[in-house]
Amino acid sequence: MQTGYNMSSDRKNTITKKAYAKVNLGLDVIRRREDGYHEVRMIMQTVDICDVLTFTRQERPGIVVTTDKEELPGDESNLIYKAARLVTETCSVREGIKIELQKRIPMAAGMAGGSTDAAAVFHGMNEMFGLGMDEDEMCALGVKIGADIPYCVKGGTALAEGIGEILTKLPDAPACVVLVAKPDIDVSTKYVYENLHAESLEYHPDIDGMRAAIEEGDLRGMAERMGNVLETVTVNAYPVIREIKEVMKKSGAWNALMSGSGPTVFGIFGEEEKARKAYNEIAQANLAGQLFLTGWAERNARKS
Ligand code: ATP
Repeated sequence: MQTGYNMSSDRKNTITKKAYAKVNLGLDVIRRREDGYHEVRMIMQTVDICDVLTFTRQERPGIVVTTDKEELPGDESNLIYKAARLVTETCSVREGIKIELQKRIPMAAGMAGGSTDAAAVFHGMNEMFGLGMDEDEMCALGVKIGADIPYCVKGGTALAEGIGEILTKLPDAPACVVLVAKPDIDVSTKYVYENLHAESLEYHPDIDGMRAAIEEGDLRGMAERMGNVLETVTVNAYPVIREIKEVMKKSGAWNALMSGSGPTVFGIFGEEEKARKAYNEIAQANLAGQLFLTGWAERNARKS
């Protein structure tokens, strides 16, 4: 990793980056490690729901983060701040940066909203200050502050192993209509992992079978294998998750699943009409305050 940076690089004073949310098409937990981390096998997929980060160069050194959500301060607890500080220190950035966040991704939702913002900071500061980091270098920095950040740096469809940081790129998942529903409850990832009985899980999703289905472009095979062991904790604590899954399946989803540690549920549909039907039913029954009719996001969407 280089420690200086290129002062003669493009002197744009403001740039914007989109930070895409993810869902887990499959999430398996292999075991709890002695250090408390969980060893996982996950199939990750970016969805077309994004935050927008605006970077403005500041003459005076320092990091300023602002957000448009009262409940999300821009202080040192914000992953954007942590990522910006890490880049500033590691790459010896001498100028200051202001980062303004427009939050669109549901929070505490299992969609890696904070991690993807941090990944966008690496891309944004790398470009603004001409730091010359490649994605692998950004991943190495990112894992220091969050296990999902390396995946968010790369995006697209990927197998994530280890604590989530060992990535294997997969071909794009087959196209489909995706309905994302976030019920009005916040779930702490820490609570879910602490209450997971990793050693006595009766069911493990077929991650290798899903990988093969994706490689063959087989939507049905992929949908059939969707599974998330964290549902054993979160669905029991919050039955609304099961209700939303049932509405989606009854409306014709190929399958529906909780993403990450929840509570967001996503359903995948072959036809938009069926997804709209589920959207309307979920809205009318007040099962989820945030609903998005969307699809997968392309791997390089952030850069467009
Ligand atoms: P994951 O899927 O990685 O578990 P999540 O979607 O469940 O993430 P996040 O939205 O990333 O959860 O945020 C969880 C908590 O992290 C929030 O409640 C908030 O306090 C804190 N946080 C810090 N920085 C951010 C950020 N930039 N965006 C969202 N949350 C942040």
